[in-house]
Amino acid sequence: MATFRKIGILTSGGDAPGMNACIKAAVNKAYALGIEVVGIRGGYAGLMNGDLVPLTQQSVSNIIGEGGTFLYSSRCPEFATEEGMRIAVESCKKHQIDALICIGGDGTFRGATDMTFHGVPSIGLPGTIDNDITATDYTIGLDTSINTTVKMIDCLRDTCESHARLNVVEVMGRHCGQIALYAAIASGAVAVAIPEKPFDEAAVIEKIRMLRKNGKRSMILVVAEGMVNPDGTPYSETLVQHLKEQAGIDARFARFAHVVRGGQPTVRDRTTASDMASRAVELLVQGKSNVVMCELDGEICAVDIAFALVADRMYKNKLKEGDLDRFTPEQIEQMKALIEKRKREIDRLYQVAADVGF
Ligand code: ADP
Repeated sequence: MATFRKIGILTSGGDAPGMNACIKAAVNKAYALGIEVVGIRGGYAGLMNGDLVPLTQQSVSNIIGEGGTFLYSSRCPEFATEEGMRIAVESCKKHQIDALICIGGDGTFRGATDMTFHGVPSIGLPGTIDNDITATDYTIGLDTSINTTVKMIDCLRDTCESHARLNVVEVMGRHCGQIALYAAIASGAVAVAIPEKPFDEAAVIEKIRMLRKNGKRSMILVVAEGMVNPDGTPYSETLVQHLKEQAGIDARFARFAHVVRGGQPTVRDRTTASDMASRAVELLVQGKSNVVMCELDGEICAVDIAFALVADRMYKNKLKEGDLDRFTPEQIEQMKALIEKRKREIDRLYQVAADVGF
């Protein structure tokens, strides 16, 4: 069994509510096992610069309910170079960091796998509001962000009802429509537009016209940020113009953007974060690394990072030459099954939104 004296923990890429809960859980679990933890500030940039802070049970004692990440985050392209990697590995040696826990999205996991390859065993935790990691059913931050989104739409609904308005709401999610789907269902949106599905604008405008004719005053239309025009500009704004011009509707526009990345994490996010982080420490102590913690059918498990990254590329139809060579036929079948599962989830949520949206 490998022994670690010190684990480094960092948050990287886009922040997500629940990252602090990960940090607290990892620290407490590590100390229970007699291991020290050092916080690395500002993601991989902090690792390269040696921007470190010792973490104790005392120093993380009240952070579980705080949004953002108290270790800060950043994007650091220099780290992804050979020279950057060399500096990061040297930094680990210098500060006697024996292993890393890297919280973030797919970019962060690439960094974790590179560090493992260069001799610093690392484990990834999925911290992103987008729920766009194919290997896991759930990513830390989704629940908080959809709850914040729906609270904000509820506020818009009040004023839309007063003034008989329609509000187009653009929500985050990068290329994934999950935030939009949950938000649309839970806020009673008349329609939802996501990148995974064709959007029949003419039919939606007709539906809105009919609803208005029948006396419906307030209407919400949710658009995922991944919906873009052919020139890459946001489709949400185009849709507002079309609604005004073609349906004569008093349509307003709201982009929630980064506001739904903040706020106190929900119980779901705090719990999943705690569970995944604690397991990650256990696995590192057992000598396991180069995995990302995932939730599959309600169970927390560890999935090989290479598998997770290639499954993502398969889902996005972005497989590179040779990507599948190192996997067994069974593993490739597992990836395909995961992709089917993700598609089924989107289909199911989309159908609910279509059936109940009014
Ligand atoms: P996220 O982790 O949320 O997907 P990014 O894609 O911006 O966010 O990645 C976060 C950081 O991870 C990057 O700034 C970089 O430091 C590191 N990273 C991204 N891609 C790679 C890569 N191919 N190899 C090593 N490190 C990477």
